[in-house]
Amino acid sequence: MKRILVTGGAGFLGSHLCRKLLKEGNEVLCVDNFFTGRRQNIHELLDYKNFELLRHDITLPLFVEVDEIYNLACPASPVHYQFDPVQTTKTSVIGAVNMLGLARRLKIKILQASTSEVYGDPAIHPQLEEYWGNVNPIGPRACYDEGKRCAETLFFDYHRQHRLEIKVARIFNTYGPNMQPNDGRVVSNFILQALENRPITIYGDGSQTRSFCYVDDLIDGLYKLMQSDKDITGPINIGNPVETTMIELAQLIIQQTGSKSELIYKTLPQDDPKKRQPDIRKAIEILDWKPKVELLKGLTDTIHYFQNPTLKIQS
Ligand code: NAD
Ligand code: UDP
Repeated sequence: MKRILVTGGAGFLGSHLCRKLLKEGNEVLCVDNFFTGRRQNIHELLDYKNFELLRHDITLPLFVEVDEIYNLACPASPVHYQFDPVQTTKTSVIGAVNMLGLARRLKIKILQASTSEVYGDPAIHPQLEEYWGNVNPIGPRACYDEGKRCAETLFFDYHRQHRLEIKVARIFNTYGPNMQPNDGRVVSNFILQALENRPITIYGDGSQTRSFCYVDDLIDGLYKLMQSDKDITGPINIGNPVETTMIELAQLIIQQTGSKSELIYKTLPQDDPKKRQPDIRKAIEILDWKPKVELLKGLTDTIHYFQNPTLKIQS
């Protein structure tokens, strides 16, 4: 049995990861400062005797004894990471230094939840891991994008300089149960608007694309990456390559909810990427991983969750 640290474990992805690690028979130490995380997300995990919760901010050093670290702590939605951009950069950069230092002291492997945002508003399509990205370093998204890019730099320097075993996953847009209703992300916004028959807010003309991965697939990918051979560091794209425009997404959600909502158009936020699609050939070849859940099925389950947010998650 391993003792595994999950930072950001009370957040959307972290709560699913904690559940998966517990089900695989591990002990889990969930560390979270509850900036965007919620007790509700981990409520049922508190019943597991192998689950421990520690309120802590990873911008401060942490001294614990564990066998592996998954570093997920960081607000991920534009509304939340732009709320206190200095803290966002600190969480990515100082948080990475602290977690890498912990991993170095304990001589254990550490996985970083990086992001497709390291590609910025990409000039190549789909995005391959070799692409260096197109990020505005002084724009409103930079606290997140550049923070995550710097965290990747730190991971690779600890690997080269201290021979630390690292795993870097570049996560693309993920959705599913435990998404926060108020975090402004497109899937949660559209579902809630549709369920309440309110207008669906399309930013810009809605022709921008994203590629949405269901949370169970994503967690499976992170887990496989952590289990991979020592020499596999990534960065590796983990996402669903099926690309969808925001108009198409809105129409699917209206259809699935039977909503009477209409579409309304609002200003496109600054530096909003026009298209995004992962090239996942590496994940397929190296990890033998590819997403299984189709968008329609994933949306149906997510809609069901938003209709009954207190129901236990089945997976
Ligand atoms: P989330 O906001 O739901 O979860 C983040 C968690 O980190 C929250 O529980 C929050 O309270 C915690 N946290 C934030 N700052 C912290 C700090 N300084 N110290 C301790 N805890 C802190 O976001 P999420 O969607 O679950 O994302 C998890 C990770 O995956 C993030 O690192 C994010 O950048 C990455 N990611 C997510 C997506 C996605 O689509 N959800 C896409 C790309 C990358
Ligand atoms: N978006 C939208 N309406 C909303 C929320 C978001 O049209 O109510 C758009 C947003 O401009 C972006 C896409 O949906 O083009 C995805 O936004 P999200 O914040 O979910 O993720 P990110 O931009 O970080 O990929």
